[in-house]
Amino acid sequence: MRHVTGFRPLSLGCGVLALGMFLYANGAAAVGTGANDAVVNPNATVATSATITLLGTMGGPPLDIHSERAESSTLLTVGDHQYLIDAGTGVTRRLMKYGLPPYKVNRIFITHNHLDHTAGLVSLLAESWFNGWYYHDPLYMDRSTQKPFTTIYGPPDTQGLFDGAMQFLSVSAHIFNADDTGAGTMKPPSHVFGVHTVIAHDEPVTFYDDGAVKVTAVENNHFGDPEPERLREAGSFSYSYRFDTPAGSIVFTGDTGPSENVTKLATGADVLVAEVLDFDLMLNPKVSREGVGVSKAPNKEQIRHHMLHQHLSPQAVGEMAKKAGVKTVLLYHVVPGDAPLTYGVDYVTAVKKYFSGTVLFGHDLTQYTLVKK
Ligand SMILES: [Zn+2]
Ligand SMILES: [Zn+2]
Repeated sequence: MRHVTGFRPLSLGCGVLALGMFLYANGAAAVGTGANDAVVNPNATVATSATITLLGTMGGPPLDIHSERAESSTLLTVGDHQYLIDAGTGVTRRLMKYGLPPYKVNRIFITHNHLDHTAGLVSLLAESWFNGWYYHDPLYMDRSTQKPFTTIYGPPDTQGLFDGAMQFLSVSAHIFNADDTGAGTMKPPSHVFGVHTVIAHDEPVTFYDDGAVKVTAVENNHFGDPEPERLREAGSFSYSYRFDTPAGSIVFTGDTGPSENVTKLATGADVLVAEVLDFDLMLNPKVSREGVGVSKAPNKEQIRHHMLHQHLSPQAVGEMAKKAGVKTVLLYHVVPGDAPLTYGVDYVTAVKKYFSGTVLFGHDLTQYTLVKK
């Protein structure tokens, strides 16, 4: 760890020590082993820490590509395993900031298929596919096996995203394999990557267990409560995920409104990584361009309803954290995403009115490590 600045130890209370904020000027990240997923591994390393790396904390539509925030994506590192939650624009470049080649990230969890969570996925897979071949990883070159090396987990409509990504990659793969550059040594992308559909509704469902980490999903209400039938038919659900690690439990809300399902999922968690939206700030044209668009939209009342009921205000974050009994709240997916970062202190103060635990405002490229005592 080099050039560590901004370290400040924080007490998360019983059973868990934690940790603090490590800001790396020169990234130094753990690198995954490439072990495959969805298999209980009895030899998994028992990790005593779990590190959350905020790769992108910008929520909402990409009206501006922000110089300080990438779109929503978060890396969770447990031992030598990497877990990526969402893949918004900028994710590949952010990973490289930590010296982590994309092909080392082989467990990707999509909360829902809004573009601010998925627009970086194809470029991530493209770089992963090419990296794996370039570094002669056997799993990227052994054309005799179709076993996926990297798996994307998500709601049913993730399959469509995956199929489109494979189609996109296959065009370039065909050229490389047909000419002297790849000379037939590059494994087809569809044999490297796989997709796993997660089905979850009101009750938490554990769908992933690699022997070190369990992942549990629940449907939240980001798309409505009840969700419109036309979305349900398309398998467009929005999930929140809980990662139970040897160092503690971490819940990522993804995008959601106040939700009993998410509160249940987060009950007793050590860290609630929560989206946050300030609607008044969003409507201030001096602060955000998002509000300008909303105020002119023909369906502005529907958008207003969505923002107020299918996202989390600071008050809603605080109330959920209190009810779930979590120890720490880490704010990410900040909306309006194009507001100056100096507004962060207001989010923290607003959440603290309703929650007495620790509240942290997440900045891009900041790491938080949870350490088991
Ligand atoms: Zn979002
Ligand atoms: Zn969304």
